[in-house]
Amino acid sequence: MSLKVFNMVKSQINKISKQHNINKNISAILQSPNTIIQTNFPVKINNEYKMFQGYRVQHNNICGPYKGGLRFNENVDINEVSALATWMTLKCSIQDLPYGGGKGGIAINPYDYNKDEMENICRAFTRSMYKQIGSNVDIPAPDVGTTSEMMNWMTDEYDKLSVSSFNISNQKATFTGKSLEYGGSKGREEATGTGVAICVKEWAKKKNIDLKDKTFIVQGFGNVGSFAAKKMESYGMKMIAVGDHTGYLYNKDGFSVNDLNNYIKEHKSLEGYHLGERVNKQNFFALETDVCVPAALEMEITESVAENLKCKLIVEGANGPLTENADKICFEKNIDVIPDILANSGGVLVSYFEWLQNKQDYYWTLEKVLNKLDLNMTDAFDKIYNISLKNNSNMRDACYYYSLKRIETIYNKRGIH
Ligand code: NAD
Repeated sequence: MSLKVFNMVKSQINKISKQHNINKNISAILQSPNTIIQTNFPVKINNEYKMFQGYRVQHNNICGPYKGGLRFNENVDINEVSALATWMTLKCSIQDLPYGGGKGGIAINPYDYNKDEMENICRAFTRSMYKQIGSNVDIPAPDVGTTSEMMNWMTDEYDKLSVSSFNISNQKATFTGKSLEYGGSKGREEATGTGVAICVKEWAKKKNIDLKDKTFIVQGFGNVGSFAAKKMESYGMKMIAVGDHTGYLYNKDGFSVNDLNNYIKEHKSLEGYHLGERVNKQNFFALETDVCVPAALEMEITESVAENLKCKLIVEGANGPLTENADKICFEKNIDVIPDILANSGGVLVSYFEWLQNKQDYYWTLEKVLNKLDLNMTDAFDKIYNISLKNNSNMRDACYYYSLKRIETIYNKRGIH
């Protein structure tokens, strides 16, 4: 499956490069990561050493240091991480950030380990990739299964190693997505989901749609899904169905996002929540609704799921939630799709703000962060929407077009044609 995901992103780069005459060599460079790092490291679990395998894919750094999350999930493998790293290069370019793309992870279920074990895994992983990362080289962040606390442990471990090796301290900017006391940015936690919702708001403006009382469904009620839902609820919208790895719930009168958040804080998943009727995944996606927010994993909306979709808009909180065929079906059914590399780019945007604040050791107010997030997301949405009108394409193709063109220009400036 993960090979399919990596092939999907490469085929999209290929398609848009051919359509718009992007330099063949540059297109080829972008279809292979610069560096693939695989580390093996031992961690003591239950008084015995267990070997773990960590990955870091550094896809491309022509625009700046590699930037991208670390995923802890059982399905992590080199192809999945390569696809996610490639999307990061494209995503950072859409937001005009001085970053390239990277991604990493470990194939584990984070829920299998207690807090001490998880801290040891994070610290050992950091030691194993210490020489290959850094605030001007490669800057990891959280993704599925990783949290701000894990970024704190990693930052602390990186700092210790820097002091002992080079007597350099204060390496906070090597990781983003940290807690405030470790140099995190105000607004980083809600950034990705809020950015997703801002895209919905901008889409509605273009279409002259009043979002009040419109409905939405969310697959994946983690960081991205829950904050997107919170912001969309603040527009007067109603979440009528929600799902996570334990199942899906439907309630025609809507769910309270706040109440669900409190429940999940305590119970870790939706399982056992008192409200709503249980539905299966197929029926969840087939619900009559205005907006569908996939915010879990890749390839969740397959061809057969897409055939039954009844929404007007899909906003991709997750990376790669639609297969290529599902994407085509949505286009044929006139369902708009705001693609991942635009819709969820608020996360890396505020990671950039965090990095800037760390570099300057000067911290911004929440208001400033959220205003800038809104401004940048709105500008990026406008820019891509206008390209899609001009090129007579969907927004995904417009995103790839903008991103690839910008990267090509930077290569050209360095004399690479
Ligand atoms: P998370 O770990 O906080 O939440 C993931 C959610 O998905 C959880 O509710 C989990 O139960 C659910 N889930 C997992 N497997 C599922 C399955 N098989 N079916 C249904 N639900 C399932 O992760 P997150 O940070 O919210 O990331 C979600 C997606 O957004 C990922 O694709 C990630 O790459 C992308 N993303 C995240 C960020 C960020 O800042 N966190 C930024 C950009 C993109």
